[in-house]
Amino acid sequence: MATLTDQFGIQEALSKLGIKEINNGTSTGSNSFANGEIIESYSPVDGTLIAKVKSSTKEDYEAAMVKAQEAFKTWRLIPAPKRGEIVRQMGEELRKYKEPLGQLVSYEMGKSLQEGLGEVQEMIDICDFAVGLSRQLYGLTMHSERPMHRMYEQYHPVGIVGIISAFNFPVAVWSWNSMLAWVCGDVCVWKPSEKTPLCGIACQNIIQKVLERNNVPEGVSCLINGRENGDRMNTDKRLPLVSFTGSTRVGRHVSKTVAERFGNTILELGGNNAIIVSEHADLSMVLVGAVFGAVGTAGQRCTTTRRLIIHESMYDKTIDVLKNAYGQLKIGNPLDSNNHVGPLIDKDSVKNYLEAIEKAKAEGGKVIVEGGVMQGEGYESGCYVKPCIIEAKNSFEIVQHETFAPILYVMKYTNLEEAIAMQNDVPQGLSSSIFTQNMREMELFLSQAGSDCGIANVNIGTSGAEIGGAFGGEKETGGGRESGSDAWKAYMRRQTNTINYGSELPLAQGIRFDL
Ligand code: NAD
Repeated sequence: MATLTDQFGIQEALSKLGIKEINNGTSTGSNSFANGEIIESYSPVDGTLIAKVKSSTKEDYEAAMVKAQEAFKTWRLIPAPKRGEIVRQMGEELRKYKEPLGQLVSYEMGKSLQEGLGEVQEMIDICDFAVGLSRQLYGLTMHSERPMHRMYEQYHPVGIVGIISAFNFPVAVWSWNSMLAWVCGDVCVWKPSEKTPLCGIACQNIIQKVLERNNVPEGVSCLINGRENGDRMNTDKRLPLVSFTGSTRVGRHVSKTVAERFGNTILELGGNNAIIVSEHADLSMVLVGAVFGAVGTAGQRCTTTRRLIIHESMYDKTIDVLKNAYGQLKIGNPLDSNNHVGPLIDKDSVKNYLEAIEKAKAEGGKVIVEGGVMQGEGYESGCYVKPCIIEAKNSFEIVQHETFAPILYVMKYTNLEEAIAMQNDVPQGLSSSIFTQNMREMELFLSQAGSDCGIANVNIGTSGAEIGGAFGGEKETGGGRESGSDAWKAYMRRQTNTINYGSELPLAQGIRFDL
């Protein structure tokens, strides 16, 4: 009988991506620094050991940094639009590899094939965005208070950008950071999650070809593996910027450690996102937004809908519609497009999910749609769980916490001010949304007295942001912004320049200093 991997073409995808010696061999990518302990990559889809990857030792880490430092000296001198042209070619290369890379994302991380392909599409889109940006790294000019003086500001690259990424967006988050950093003139050292090391190798293989073709030093993009290298990056003064995506717990540590050495961070941490379902909501729209938001990627998006705050007059109707939809969800292999919900990343995650349900019950939560672990054929990895719905209070300790699994907490409200207060009353501040056809309600939700999140949507769920906007959140989500808008400024240092083209030397603020 064909194995699942063969059935869905994974072996072929891996070979197209240049990942060799799979199944118990060791696998390394181009320009990766890998002589350390073995990291085993298991697929949550079927429990198969896909490959063993070597992590990077302290010496490997050092070699990567030296190579990156050298590369920066050359890369920063290449005009930004020329760097943009190289990024454009990377986008072309990603277009060629969209299918196998999307398959690998799905197989190694466990999200649906459609979402895996969507993640690669985001990478392509950010390349296009970065190409345009390479001609738009604008600084302002100002009028000087002194005669015959000119003032302006310009942006310079910062140097080496350290990228530490989470398992759930194993390729897109890297590209959001690296494509912008590259057009800005920085070089990048990437440490992917140890849960998805093959995705890192695949990306590195794809872009390395472009760097070689353009005779660019390969240290422009370095890949290192292994959790302990995260801490090396935090304390390394050669990294003026660390862009960290992951849990609030680890992010807090990264933030403190990097700040201690006056380095900068972009922090993209946990969310606890809510949808407000108003009495003026179109329920058919809520259905798609809430169900995809809560169960898509098996609840493992930072923007996953975790709370539904429903107007009391809509409560029973909404719950009926949700129960019906949850009853139709197909749970199974994410590479099979008939399924809606794939696996959690690993068994630790399954344990967290089960514990969260127990905690919610212990705090007085009422189960509306029962959860549980799927058993039997097709679920051998032990990572498939049933999306569940629990009626809860916003103040429950477990509701205040991000559990990275498909658990949706539902609660009632009476007036919109109360709903907005509930939506804001969590430590995190990533994504939020309201479903309403009432203009006053939407404007209040978006006003300064409304949502306190980095993302606030109307008649759209909490998940699935576009690359054109700045992405990120407030409070314990970390305050960072990535991707579109002017997020590029975080990857550059701003310099204010004043030029005196006269023959006098007047001092600022009218100060006289006669000699
Ligand atoms: P995690 O915090 O366990 O790991 C994230 C990364 O941190 C991994 O690469 C890991 O190796 C690394 N790491 C571990 N210890 C470190 C240390 N001491 N110093 C530096 N790096 C260290 O997170 P995860 O389980 O991979 O991802 C899920 C979390 O990520 C969720 O909380 C989710 O909300 C969050 N996330 C946030 C966003 C966002 O944009 N806000 C996007 C995706 C994921």
